[in-house]
Amino acid sequence: MAKPEINDIILTLKQGKKKMKSKCVMKFGRKHLRKVNACRAVLCLAALAAAANAVACSGFAVGKKVSATGRVIVAHNEDNIPKHRIRHAMIPAGAPQFDEPGHVSIPPAERACACFWSELKSADGEPFPGDLFFNENGVMVYSNNGGVYEEWDGKTFSLPDEGYWSSCTDGGLGINLRFAVAQRARTAREGVSIMTNLVMTFGYEPLSRIFTIADKDETWLVQVLHGRRYVARRCPDDAVASYPNCLTIGAIEPGDVCSPYIAAQRGTFDFAARYQGPRTWKSPFNLHRGLGLYRIVAGLDVKAGETYPFSLKPAHMISIDDIKRGLSSHYEGTPHETNPKHPEKGPKVVEPICRRGTLEAMVCEFGETPADCVLHIAKGRPCETPFMTFRPFGGALPDGVATGEEAIKRISEHYKAAR
Ligand SMILES: [Zn+2]
Repeated sequence: MAKPEINDIILTLKQGKKKMKSKCVMKFGRKHLRKVNACRAVLCLAALAAAANAVACSGFAVGKKVSATGRVIVAHNEDNIPKHRIRHAMIPAGAPQFDEPGHVSIPPAERACACFWSELKSADGEPFPGDLFFNENGVMVYSNNGGVYEEWDGKTFSLPDEGYWSSCTDGGLGINLRFAVAQRARTAREGVSIMTNLVMTFGYEPLSRIFTIADKDETWLVQVLHGRRYVARRCPDDAVASYPNCLTIGAIEPGDVCSPYIAAQRGTFDFAARYQGPRTWKSPFNLHRGLGLYRIVAGLDVKAGETYPFSLKPAHMISIDDIKRGLSSHYEGTPHETNPKHPEKGPKVVEPICRRGTLEAMVCEFGETPADCVLHIAKGRPCETPFMTFRPFGGALPDGVATGEEAIKRISEHYKAAR
């Protein structure tokens, strides 16, 4: 059986599977995606299709020298299954590190920070790995799916077996890894160190993920694969980085923070090529969102080459409004323009950046201090929902943001419900 491209899979969904079994969808990216036997292939394809629909997040980072604010800006569209929901809470300082069933117990933080939390869960309460945290030190943590869809041999979706480097200890780290980082990090750089140390100690259980860890001065993308394999790279100060759901680090460069296994292969090694085929990023599923943000936000007309550009120098200084326009785009005025009523895909099977499943759009405008940081959040599709401003550590929180014991109860239940 030929490898299915992500669009073939999406079409499979279109043609026959209108409703996915939620349990299968939920396990996407976890054990079931790593090893699926042939007799379950149809259901898995359907799950992958739903998940592709579900997890088409878009991320964007702006270096401080090309930012109109003079500081880093990061942004994200959280795309998922349209009926899923997001709600907000302020986790107080000193909250425990909650365990996740079947996964390693992360040691508690010496001093756990207060964290603003954007909680993503399914309609029946299952948490998804789409949570966003912004902590009292002004450190932002969110993620995109890593999009490793290519390793399909008709029987299995898997990453290469690389012995110890593709192993986990005691079930490995689950979706609470980012909370552990958010509770501890005083800077983005320290957040990278905390995350990679945890990954080296315990291994990362899901298939792949691209974490954004940012503060007012720098943004790091930590691209983590199952086990103990990762590369973290900083977005240069004079560049922007646009990232859909694919690995965007190719050849290892000086300054990259790599797991020892990856570092040992420096010089001969292309991270993205090793763990995902070129079709992953060249698929219209990812390509148009990734290159679309470079075009719409940064004025760059990038053609698909042999590798995906991790970062590029923008054609002009980037403002908060430039980014909002990008996150809200349906490629208006181009041949790929999609119907604003969100049919999802036109005849060319192109994914808009603002999608039917966009549950939340966020632009983080860092300030000089954490109290000055403004999160611009559209609680739904940003083409039709206004961006509201939140200052998580700069005064009163809006009504509806859970605090204190209620916030702790929510996050405790969140991780308890993970599987
Ligand atoms: Zn829209």
